[in-house]
Amino acid sequence: MPLTEFELIYRYFSSLGRGEGVDLSVGDDCAILSLPPGERLATSVDTLVEGVHFPADIFPEDLGFRCVSVAASDLAAMGARPLGMTVALTLPEVDDLWLNAFSQGLGAAVSRFRLPLVGGDTTRGPLNITVQVLGALPAGRALLRSGACAGDAVYVSGTLGDAAGALAFLRGEWQPDPQHAEYLLQRLYRPEARLELGQALLGSANAAIDVSDGLLADLGHVAAASGVRIEIEHARLPLSEALQSHPEPLQAYKWALTGGDDYELCFCLPPDATLPGVTQIGRVTTGEGVHCSLAVGAVRGYQHFGARG
Ligand code: ADP
Ligand code: MG
Repeated sequence: MPLTEFELIYRYFSSLGRGEGVDLSVGDDCAILSLPPGERLATSVDTLVEGVHFPADIFPEDLGFRCVSVAASDLAAMGARPLGMTVALTLPEVDDLWLNAFSQGLGAAVSRFRLPLVGGDTTRGPLNITVQVLGALPAGRALLRSGACAGDAVYVSGTLGDAAGALAFLRGEWQPDPQHAEYLLQRLYRPEARLELGQALLGSANAAIDVSDGLLADLGHVAAASGVRIEIEHARLPLSEALQSHPEPLQAYKWALTGGDDYELCFCLPPDATLPGVTQIGRVTTGEGVHCSLAVGAVRGYQHFGARG
């Protein structure tokens, strides 16, 4: 006998809902969370559709982790402290093996990002996962896209272009050595939302965004929202050893500039900051738009509707 909806929720999801500030979790009509005095709720939602945001053959465990990381990255980009999340799951069928693996990945992300699963919805249909994240920010403080100032330096965390390099490898367009290939797939399937960094930047950064659509496309939003010009020096971009092993260095830089799905944080703050694990890649000046020392053609990032450029 297949599980009923309630048995399914109880078996796979109800144990992931405990956490600081969670007054009431999975099981009632709503979850209840407490927000300390002086804090505000930050919330964001992301949908992942099979074939668009992940391939049909992704391991369900990776999918469980990835859907949380992608959504939590938006909290990181605002400097918010994670409170919890809800997950709306549309499944074509009840497959115990799949659900078991998916909930393992989800559980790994719950612990890693301290984001208890406080509720959700479970329906039948084509595989589709929606994660809503909830976070807390001190009143009046947040890392906005609109705060960059002429004179700021532009920084990025981690390395860029790895997810794009992984996709190219999966398409058979290049063959990194096995150890580099494994690293790249890990970066594609298990991105790490930079929540600690985001919170650490809350006092100092003037603007921030997470790199989900590609560095140049995402910085375009910062330049437009802040009314500034952003200049990027491609030679400064942090590339992983795996990307550095690509036979054509320019290809690696192009992935770093235009590839999506890295979920690193890109932020602007007064120059010469010493922060571990981040790299200065450019600067903010007066003017408009994003300008890069390497021409990569028109960049619009991934667009679900309308022309692709
Ligand atoms: P309702 O009919 O009131 O929407 P549901 O039957 O959808 O309630 O859900 C029952 C409880 O299980 C609720 O607390 C809901 O938040 C939780 N829930 C349902 N699906 C999930 C899921 N995929 N993950 C986590 N919690 C879930
Ligand atoms: Mg419901």
